[in-house]
Amino acid sequence: MSRTRTSDVLVIGGGIIGLVTAWRAAGRGLATAVVDPEPGGGAAQVAAGMLAAVTELHHGEQTLLGLNLASARRYPDFAAELTELTGQDLGYRRCGTLAVALDADDRAHLRELHILQQQSGLESQWLSGRECRRLEPMLAPGVRGGLRVDGDHQIDPRRLAGALVSACERAGVVFHRVWAQRLTVTRDRAAGVVTADGTVLGAGQVVLAGGSLSGRFAGVPQDVLPPVRPVKGQVVRLTMPRRHGPFLSRTVRAVVRGSHVYLVPRESGELVIGATSEEMGWDTTVTAGGVYELLRDAHELVPGITELPLTETRAGLRPGSPDNAPLIGPTGLEGLLLATGHYRNGVLLTPVTGDALAHALTTGELPEEARPFTPRRFTTALTEQPA
Ligand SMILES: Cc1cc2nc3c(=O)[nH]c(=O)nc-3n(C[C@H](O)[C@H](O)[C@H](O)COP(=O)(O)OP(=O)(O)OC[C@H]3O[C@@H](n4cnc5c(N)ncnc54)[C@H](O)[C@@H]3O)c2cc1C
Repeated sequence: MSRTRTSDVLVIGGGIIGLVTAWRAAGRGLATAVVDPEPGGGAAQVAAGMLAAVTELHHGEQTLLGLNLASARRYPDFAAELTELTGQDLGYRRCGTLAVALDADDRAHLRELHILQQQSGLESQWLSGRECRRLEPMLAPGVRGGLRVDGDHQIDPRRLAGALVSACERAGVVFHRVWAQRLTVTRDRAAGVVTADGTVLGAGQVVLAGGSLSGRFAGVPQDVLPPVRPVKGQVVRLTMPRRHGPFLSRTVRAVVRGSHVYLVPRESGELVIGATSEEMGWDTTVTAGGVYELLRDAHELVPGITELPLTETRAGLRPGSPDNAPLIGPTGLEGLLLATGHYRNGVLLTPVTGDALAHALTTGELPEEARPFTPRRFTTALTEQPA
């Protein structure tokens, strides 16, 4: 039998993006609910948690850089607030990053990144191979040079997700632990969802934050449906020895034979090695080839990893968008907002997304810094195309 429960705001999806949205909305006094069979799950259970605004800079993504930096600036206060509220350690570590090159091609690629960073006013320092090894003695002798980026940090996304669930509970957010089956629309306005068990959840405003599944949520009009797709990433987790001096003291990353590889050392002793990037639909199989490539490339950077216990292999789905940037805020359907498409920077973008959505839910508009990420940029581009 269907029952109707209502709230001011209903968030579809309790990944880190949906959770931060719900937490911040509740903080503004809005009665908020989240619908998700497993809140705190999603891509955060796989992600490395690099907060890499500077080392993740790509040509053509300068607009996204502004949002990434705005979120990176918020992180110290955001992490402190969550920890104080929940008593949970988030594994937030201000350790910096070293991006290194193994051959002449990699070095040319890094040099280009360095120039782009300088043109964008970002702080990074070019180091020789010897200087890199002085900083991280476990690096391979063949490392030819690198970029030291002291502002790119890390957090443990699993702990972040757990803390956000607690913060939501403390703020009075209601959790419906069930799948949302379709959006309901009444008089051209989003009105809520029907869940898999037939419950009708009504809401003044609905936020679609379903990660890589957002692009195919039933009931959303075609011209409003976000163009989001799953991009598979495989990671492996090793355990570093506890001994004198750290195995690695900061995140180390490189492009090896055209593939990105990174090693993220946590204070807990976990070493996360990632990540593949595969367009395979919703497949989350861990493959021998994926694990082989990660370990092969990571071994070229840090040969000592082969001695470490292998504790976990896993694959997750990044919510990718056509321009690699998120879709945040009101849509062409009244009462429906999006918080999705965060692709490879969702952990980094969590604080700024929460603030932007809370602003949009209370004022109807995006704050200045989030305006370029309106979902309307895709529908406008479509309607402006010549016939
Ligand atoms: C391998 C890998 C490495 C990564 N590394 C980093 C990194 O180092 N730094 C970084 O910043 N980011 C990283 N990311 C990206 C980051 O993890 C994601 O961008 C972010 O977690 C996306 O969060 P989300 O809440 O939007 O989506 P998701 O985490 O996918 O959560 C979506 C939630 O919605 C729920 N849902 C979907 N449909 C429905 C429905 N119909 N009804 C109810 N619930 C629904 C799902 O159950 C899920 O819980 C990485 C991702 C991967 C896969």
